[in-house]
Amino acid sequence: MVKVQVLSGMNSIGGNFVRIEDGNTKIAFDNGMRFDLFKRFYSGFISPSGVGELRELGIVPREEWYEELSDLYVSHLHMDHIGLPSNIPVELTLHVPSLDIYNQMEERWSKSPTWLSLAPRKYFVKVEEIRAGKLGDNLEAIPVSHSAFPAYAFLYHGSDETVLYTGDFRLTSFLSEEEFESLCGAPSLLRYLEDEGMRVDKLVVEGTNFGVGKVPLLADEGFKLMERIVGSSQLTIATSHYLDVEFLRAVVRAAQASSVLIASKVMPQFLRRDMFAELEEPLVAEEYVKGVPDLDIASIYDYELSSERLVIITSYYELIDLVRNLREWSVSLSDMTVMLSEPEPRQEESVDYEALLRWMDILGILTYRVRVSGHYYPFELTKLISTVKPKQVIPIHTQHPRLVLTLARA
Ligand SMILES: [Zn+2]
Repeated sequence: MVKVQVLSGMNSIGGNFVRIEDGNTKIAFDNGMRFDLFKRFYSGFISPSGVGELRELGIVPREEWYEELSDLYVSHLHMDHIGLPSNIPVELTLHVPSLDIYNQMEERWSKSPTWLSLAPRKYFVKVEEIRAGKLGDNLEAIPVSHSAFPAYAFLYHGSDETVLYTGDFRLTSFLSEEEFESLCGAPSLLRYLEDEGMRVDKLVVEGTNFGVGKVPLLADEGFKLMERIVGSSQLTIATSHYLDVEFLRAVVRAAQASSVLIASKVMPQFLRRDMFAELEEPLVAEEYVKGVPDLDIASIYDYELSSERLVIITSYYELIDLVRNLREWSVSLSDMTVMLSEPEPRQEESVDYEALLRWMDILGILTYRVRVSGHYYPFELTKLISTVKPKQVIPIHTQHPRLVLTLARA
């Protein structure tokens, strides 16, 4: 008999840990970490003493949740889902959406001067990459659109019931269904379920956008706004999360009448030409990165005197240093706009926008905070439920689980 246990993530955004037991099969989805709790106990001068302390505080999963697991599947690489792999106390296989990105994350963690140095896995944990399609006899990975790429939902075909765990996902993406399919190599969740006429018994579904006061923009609205912002000044600096390939593509598309340069140490390592498909690929600023595998390079100086519009893409973490450098290099800051992407609720990856905004303010730089959601909207639930037709709905990754249930039953 299939037993589904949502051990963490029921009443919080972040911290998902879903354990499935079915005869000899014992697997789990996501290695969730609770940033909402983390922030209650730690600050700039209080750091975790170790993984044990984080476990005691309920910030990372308890030891017994991993007992007898053979495999742990991570839906996407946002920190609240991959959590701290070092917390895994048993010999199992950790399945990640991209081995390349995971390895680079682990390398950065191990060099980090902060608590992140606690994160790298123990030697007995094996890591494998998830590919869209069958993962063994009774599990499938189905690509979903989210603000991290790649991202997957998992469909478990059990002995007496089928369980769908959505992970984090949205139904309205920056990409058309065709673009999505060519980027991910497989159709998206709803298209797949429709095509296969699949029957799902239990739906473990995220509900991030339920009961939130301020509603973030839909992808197509966000795109229109970005086009206008980019068209309004000579130099735009746009921030993008290094995992958010869809957003990055949208910025590049919105900037097609301008030159586009990526000025980030981390981001270019994960980019491939084919991610930009029909778009003109961005160039990489040589002042920041040398020898990236798949994109051409240029210098910021090449644009200094030209009258072309320029869009520079960087990460949230590197923005202040980039602006400082531009100042040092006497690049004029007067006609500069910053487009700050804010893809997720803060709980998902402990970030602080206020400090950034204060910097922009004292530097006299006009800043737009653009928040496009990586999650589906409550008004899309009907479509989801009518496609999945679940017998039971289990909400996760939400502060309002009862609201999700009420709306799902309606
Ligand atoms: Zn996420």
